[in-house]
Amino acid sequence: MTPAPPPKQWTVRELLAWTIQHFKDKGNGEAKLDAELLLAHVLGCDRPYLFVRFDELPTDAERARFRELITRRLAGWPVAYLVGARGFYMLNFEVDSAVLIPRSDTETLVLEALKLLKPLTAPDVLDLGTGSGCIAISIAHQKKEARVTATDLSPDALAVAKRNAAKHGVANRVTFAQGDLFAAVPAGSTFDLIASNPPYIAQGEFAALAPDVRDHEPRLALDGGPDGLAFYRRIATAAGTFLKPGGSLLLEIGYTQEAAVRALLGERPEFEAGPTLKDMGGRPRVVTAKKR
Ligand code: GLN
Repeated sequence: MTPAPPPKQWTVRELLAWTIQHFKDKGNGEAKLDAELLLAHVLGCDRPYLFVRFDELPTDAERARFRELITRRLAGWPVAYLVGARGFYMLNFEVDSAVLIPRSDTETLVLEALKLLKPLTAPDVLDLGTGSGCIAISIAHQKKEARVTATDLSPDALAVAKRNAAKHGVANRVTFAQGDLFAAVPAGSTFDLIASNPPYIAQGEFAALAPDVRDHEPRLALDGGPDGLAFYRRIATAAGTFLKPGGSLLLEIGYTQEAAVRALLGERPEFEAGPTLKDMGGRPRVVTAKKR
């Protein structure tokens, strides 16, 4: 009787090549990135280090864990939730399914906020619906003396955001407050800049959303009411009260919402319209206004 062949020893290189092909066969448009992020997570290293570990032989336990993550990814779980993190702007943010996964589109808002805050000394900033905290924490991290208030309706989201603030060394300058938009903000406080990436998906659009988003990201962070504009209406009505004269309002929008959101702000005499900023794909992404 011939002995059974020894089980194949897979190198990092082989595991990656196999997984990338497998993801591609299943129609995953981010096959390479997803495979690398998952394997780096299992091996406990940052993605670039995979390439110096190409000839290593992961243990049976590591391969079993990797297989399990591949299965969950193919079942629709976003990679960011599987590995518990997502890079945004300059920092890596912890995420779980209580928070929207930070999008690179939102970096447009952060860049504009930092530009507007640059000439100000110790500015006060408000982030409504902070989620993972990616906007509030990126601003506090880059503008060293900014004092940021970050609100969210979800206590679970705030727990994630607080851990991110501590991890990035800005917990002493970011105040977290639980509540519905401005209800969480102390009456009488005013800000140099108010930013928000509110939920903006219209209820009728959910069926057509990518399943990764629709079935896994928090509905609370996405659902903008029947026409997707519910939060912009409420923010437009109240933001003037919380802005200092000359203060800025920056609202991330869905790329079809520019005219509607500009019109909502245009109805308010306290605001002077600013430019709409585009994301890296060239689509309208951030509507801006200034308090007169
Ligand atoms: N940009 C997100 C998406 O398209 C939506 C984010 C939001 O509703 N604020 O999935």
